[in-house]
Amino acid sequence: MPQTSTLSILISTEQIRARTAEMARQIEADLAGEPVLLLGVLNGAVHFLSDLSREINSDSLLDFLQTSSYHGGKSSSGVVQIRKDLDINIEGKNVIIVEDIVDTGITLSHLRELLSTRKPKSLKVAALLSKKGSRKVHPEVEYIGFEIPNEFVVGYGLDYEDRFRNLPYIAILHEE
Ligand code: 5GP
Repeated sequence: MPQTSTLSILISTEQIRARTAEMARQIEADLAGEPVLLLGVLNGAVHFLSDLSREINSDSLLDFLQTSSYHGGKSSSGVVQIRKDLDINIEGKNVIIVEDIVDTGITLSHLRELLSTRKPKSLKVAALLSKKGSRKVHPEVEYIGFEIPNEFVVGYGLDYEDRFRNLPYIAILHEE
């Protein structure tokens, strides 16, 4: 845990709510009445999946998977492991991977590759946040909530050493 840490709000609760609703409208339009399977990437996407899924007025299934690459700290190990796999068979389904944030792109690129071998009808990604400037690889991200600067952020599901996930907004974590 940092000696002293301060938070500055980057994206407010209201901004998240409004943008999530816009993303849901876009997703509904693209689905054109077809059902969708929303795959939340734990733990970070928990609030976003919850809010996004309740905004989407389409026949929806929810499932979760968990990867690990950060090991609780602030920099990626670059190695992506599946800690918890899906329970639902995705073959023939319209699938949207719901992510909290795309940073280097390594996690998402690995997930897209893995899930596409399971033959979904379509495979897309909805990420609340994106740090475009930090990409090492460039997986497609069809729905992006907010492009943010290359800062370490917490809140609304995102943690630092398991703290701050419960904050209802996104904040930059400054350490002194
Ligand atoms: P990537 O593989 O794209 O580098 O990283 C994806 C994962 O890294 C995210 O799902 C998230 O768990 C973590 N991550 C990346 N940037 C941040 C950040 O600024 N704050 C927090 N808390 N986690 C981050």
